[in-house]
Amino acid sequence: MTAYFTVDVEQDCPPYLNTWRGMEEGLPQLLAMLAEEHIRATFFTTGDAARRYPDAVQGIVDAGHELGCHGDTHRNFAALTADESDREIADASQSLRRFGPVVSFRAPFLQLPARHLSLLQRHGYALDSSEGRHKRLSASVRVDRGVLRVPASVTSSTLRWPSAVRDRLFARLRATVVLFVHPWEFVDLRRERLRFDCRFKTGAQALDCARSALRFFTARGASFGLMRDFDERSVRP
Ligand SMILES: [Zn+2]
Repeated sequence: MTAYFTVDVEQDCPPYLNTWRGMEEGLPQLLAMLAEEHIRATFFTTGDAARRYPDAVQGIVDAGHELGCHGDTHRNFAALTADESDREIADASQSLRRFGPVVSFRAPFLQLPARHLSLLQRHGYALDSSEGRHKRLSASVRVDRGVLRVPASVTSSTLRWPSAVRDRLFARLRATVVLFVHPWEFVDLRRERLRFDCRFKTGAQALDCARSALRFFTARGASFGLMRDFDERSVRP
């Protein structure tokens, strides 16, 4: 079984905050934990984050992780016209591809209307992970308009659930496992005025939760791969 650990790299908890503590405080801790666990991950990064923190993004690439695209300014594609979406993807791609090839994509808020899928192929993206099975249970791995779609399995805050509950859910994941987190979850935001699921157990506890989630799957024989290496044949009947 191949599993995928992914990270959405952006400002802190959009659209509620506009700070960047995740990049400055959370990301270094996450990278250190992944190195300790010998896990390579896919970092879906906004063009904005790459322009503000080029050294951090270079550090992600240098550590052997995959750099993917998470839009340019974390605007919701569901609210954009085709021209605006095209510009978001073009600008992000230009900023991100300074660090190397970028072929995997995840839309902000996991919202990518089907009408925008053709833009991904036009901009050189082969894989999209903008769907979430927590939003649409029937979302499955498939090719749509030339793009391989690989949904996230659970939402990010699920990793911070009490482990007895979380691990029962994890044990039921049969298909491809795609987990995701954000750098800002590893900053203590418990006292911020945020939605509960954004702030509970953030900080050091979130890092422990991410580590234990990785170990849950590796203990069951899973290996973690990069999304760009996703083998479509692995899910065909
Ligand atoms: Zn995001």
